[in-house]
Amino acid sequence: MATTVITNISSLVTNDPSLGEGPLGTVQDAAVVIDGDRVVWVGTSSKAPATDNRVDAEGRAALPGFVDSHSHLVFAGDRTAEFNARMSGRSYSAGGIRTTVAATRAASDEALDANVRRYVREALRQGTTVLETKSGYGLTVEDEARALRIAAAHTDEVTYLGAHIVSPDYADDPAAYVDLVTGPMLDACAPHARWVDVFCEQGAFDGDQARTILKAGAARGLTPRVHANQLSYGPGVQLAVELGAASADHCTHLTDADVDALASGTTVATLLPGAEFSTRAQWPDARRLLDAGATVALSTDCNPGSSFTSSMPFCIALAVRDMGMTPDEAVRSATAGGAAALRRTDVGRIAPGTRADLALLDAPSHVHLAYRPGVPLVSAVWRAGVREA
Ligand SMILES: [Zn+2]
Repeated sequence: MATTVITNISSLVTNDPSLGEGPLGTVQDAAVVIDGDRVVWVGTSSKAPATDNRVDAEGRAALPGFVDSHSHLVFAGDRTAEFNARMSGRSYSAGGIRTTVAATRAASDEALDANVRRYVREALRQGTTVLETKSGYGLTVEDEARALRIAAAHTDEVTYLGAHIVSPDYADDPAAYVDLVTGPMLDACAPHARWVDVFCEQGAFDGDQARTILKAGAARGLTPRVHANQLSYGPGVQLAVELGAASADHCTHLTDADVDALASGTTVATLLPGAEFSTRAQWPDARRLLDAGATVALSTDCNPGSSFTSSMPFCIALAVRDMGMTPDEAVRSATAGGAAALRRTDVGRIAPGTRADLALLDAPSHVHLAYRPGVPLVSAVWRAGVREA
């Protein structure tokens, strides 16, 4: 297989402290050698070995491709009017999901597939090389399984979220819906997913229901992750830690005990500032989590209702401006943090042996991702060694 060197990188974030300076393992005047889908060499440009092909980064910065560990891309329909109304003063509630459920059920397989393809491509152009996505807008056995099949055509990181909200068909009998989610729906969905998730929130599923659903999924080989403590304080974070979930997502309303649990366990705290931005809600306190020692990931939560952004650079800028993160911490959370939330060691860093996922920035440093908010700085992207954008 042909080897390629990307050389003359002004500043390379490796996320491997053994390769460079500081926690980001930054290498100045760097080069990266790719062989097939893997990184095989990292160092300074002047020491790079001979290769078949050469790409001159012309003094641009580079970093690992972003790992977006939380999105909801299998959907149809449009909620522009809801956003517009909310920005005109009305509050957000979980009920808006029903609008997307109706549109998604009515959509063809081809339309849903085209939608996922479009947003995966949109994210890739902005530097995202690994993207998790979920079901949760079907809420019938057939529609949830269909969503997961479609998602699995685009990513290995597929999450069964039959417990997004109680299906409108079961509005009068939520217990029967939990039976469906943990019974026939799980049977149909488990073969297509890696993860099981629950929206643990007032108006969605309480702690006992969430525990039942996550344990049922775990018994079928799916690893839990939890929508936790987004709109209010609640049991989601403690439940995620108790069950060894890979991630507790949102973490906007945390008690000291919640922070302590995240800091002492293996569950990653995934923060989704696009949701707070798009609902004008209180920001999650990243500083508090980091100071306590928790592992923090940043993700988009890309969905048509509460966070319709696919941009990890936008989330980085918000996290730095409004959540107390340094630029280094935000970049690390959007790369290595996301990888930790997906329990991946092959992505989120650039070192010999990792998958060759890399974004090149039209800037001399990764700090520009926050310093120049809203500017499309990603100028080239490699995913598994293939130049995609
Ligand atoms: Zn979500």
